[in-house]
Amino acid sequence: MKLTVVGCSGSFPSAESACSSYLVEADGFRLLLDMGNGALGELQRHCGLYDLDAIFLSHLHADHCIDMCAYFVARYYRHDGGRCDPIPVYGPEGTEHRLTTAYADTPTASSMSEVFDFHTVKPSTFDIGPFTVHTERVRHPVEAYGIRIEHAGKSLTYSGDTGVSETLEQLARNTDLFLCEAAFTHGKENIPDLHLNGREAGQTAKRAGARKLVLTHIPPWTDPQVNLSDAREEFRGPVELAAPRASYEI
Ligand SMILES: [Zn+2]
Ligand SMILES: [Zn+2]
Repeated sequence: MKLTVVGCSGSFPSAESACSSYLVEADGFRLLLDMGNGALGELQRHCGLYDLDAIFLSHLHADHCIDMCAYFVARYYRHDGGRCDPIPVYGPEGTEHRLTTAYADTPTASSMSEVFDFHTVKPSTFDIGPFTVHTERVRHPVEAYGIRIEHAGKSLTYSGDTGVSETLEQLARNTDLFLCEAAFTHGKENIPDLHLNGREAGQTAKRAGARKLVLTHIPPWTDPQVNLSDAREEFRGPVELAAPRASYEI
């Protein structure tokens, strides 16, 4: 499978990157993980507006889902004469309501469900197209999920947003590529159950036995090089920073 970083800025967009969004492709199937601020624009560098096959939202903070409002417009008012059947959207309980109210303060729930086929995520194992996915709750102030995606004997694990989490460690067990948030900096921010710092991301990767670590969700006000070197002190495998338009064959 192929992973492409659509956006990787943490919490709010930077001059260089949209917020969280990652395209995962295999066998001609396109699964998008998260669609934060600015992601819909960037996504069009990588595929057509209507080329996605499924969307997974790790949680309902704006920096992970808010461009779904723009994507609703693009699908509902499609201008090229084509028709948009509902695309599967996997998200936490309340995803449809959250997106509907973010879009407008008048109820448009029925309209949104005309172009999005909402599925409520719970900790479980299920198939999305050619992928087998495992979802687990991670530690964040709202209901949030990490996801492990498997295809052809390889795996990708995405942390979503989380504080230190044993469940995440188990989810990432021996994973080929661990896409892990490192929003905080060791010694600078320390709020439990919110985000990982570089050191904690490295420790999680080490304990999980991950083969490769890619740090993501670093906010524009944070020096990514500090988080990168903190992670490298803990995890001896390859570590790098996510960057917009970077892609990985897994
Ligand atoms: Zn976030
Ligand atoms: Zn969040």
